[in-house]
Amino acid sequence: MANDTMKKCLFCGKPENKVRNMFSAGNNHICDECVLFCYDILEEQGSVSPRAKVTEKKKNKTADNGGITLKKPAEIKAVLDEYVIGQDDAKIALSVAVYNHYKRILTLEDDSDDVEIQKSNVLLLGPTGTGKTLLAQTLARLLNVPFAIADATTLTEAGYVGDDVENVLTRLIQAANYNVEEASHGIIYIDEIDKIARKSENTSITRDVSGEGVQQALLKIVEGTVSNVPPQGGRKHPHQEFIQIDTKNILFICGGAFDGLEAVIKKRTDSSSMGFGGKVKDKSSDYNILKKVVPHDLVKFGIVPELVGRLPVITVLDELDEPALCRILTEPKNSLIKQYTKLFEFDNIDFEVTPEALTEIAKVTIEQKTGARGLRAVVESILTKLMFDAPSDSSITGIKITAECVRGEAEPEITRGQEKDVV
Ligand code: ADP
Repeated sequence: MANDTMKKCLFCGKPENKVRNMFSAGNNHICDECVLFCYDILEEQGSVSPRAKVTEKKKNKTADNGGITLKKPAEIKAVLDEYVIGQDDAKIALSVAVYNHYKRILTLEDDSDDVEIQKSNVLLLGPTGTGKTLLAQTLARLLNVPFAIADATTLTEAGYVGDDVENVLTRLIQAANYNVEEASHGIIYIDEIDKIARKSENTSITRDVSGEGVQQALLKIVEGTVSNVPPQGGRKHPHQEFIQIDTKNILFICGGAFDGLEAVIKKRTDSSSMGFGGKVKDKSSDYNILKKVVPHDLVKFGIVPELVGRLPVITVLDELDEPALCRILTEPKNSLIKQYTKLFEFDNIDFEVTPEALTEIAKVTIEQKTGARGLRAVVESILTKLMFDAPSDSSITGIKITAECVRGEAEPEITRGQEKDVV
């Protein structure tokens, strides 16, 4: 409450306890808000430099970080560790890229600094089902920013059948509940970026509308442009209202399996070991050949050099082996086994999978070459019948999955309560 002895602003009438600063000359007072307001008028007239306003904006920005939760790289990685098994190189690269990206946004307001930090979009290379999408999704969740996933294979050059590249931005704006300001520092994950590779290195007479055409359109939004986006997605047409969004602060994470890239890398590394004095070929290097990728290999693969240049952080995900798959089954916060345990818990059934059974499930999944994505299908095929029968049979108190059961040589072991005998 303002009492009579309190100083009041001569312009707006606010008492001194409602403002940050009150300037006085005798019995006349003016508050900081009115000073800034007058400054704005002078600035519009061109009488003063905009320096003071910038400082004010910067102060506000650092106070609440523009609503962005800024975590240190180690903190980001620690959260990723909770959900994603292995893939340490990718986690570290992503943590650093994201940290730098957000630092960049927070310092953008500071015009006085000549050093402009460049965008650090990320390219994740790795076989299907190794956790590329999961990494991007987990990141978005922990950073509390809008996140959209787009599939590059559905995109085509504007005017052709398929999605326009701008629809990727529509999805991000929708994820932000049409808050364009929030969407403009969100994250977009573009999956299967390798599928829009140029069809051949030579320019041909037929237009490559789902390949190079898309890359060119994508390049524009990745490097930063003010884009006109149809609010509901779909095709653009002249009588439509558009939402304008600046893409320069959107972080792009692209992912792809890049089948065939190994051959490109191999060709490069092999030719460098040819001739007299050349190094002897190392057969074991086949396994981790993707790790030797350099940007030029991606250009050879069919990604235009400009787009490769806009994805400065390239990181390769490891293929998931047996122990990694076993860990994925049990360790992450929402691991498959934890999910099934919970499902059976609803029917008061203890669910158990022996360690040998876990290894067996991993083996079957590796044969299918679908990465961790295939785990669910394998587990489902074992459990579907049980999940159908168990809820109607109240005597069942426990289910145990063994290795034999995964191999199809035995039925799951079922324990029954007092009402009936153990089978
Ligand atoms: P992709 O690399 O093809 O994008 P995803 O990230 O979509 O693969 O993985 C598919 C599913 O497999 C995920 O939803 C997750 O359940 C599981 N998964 C894949 N890799 C991992 C991992 N490294 N750690 C934990 N779960 C994983």
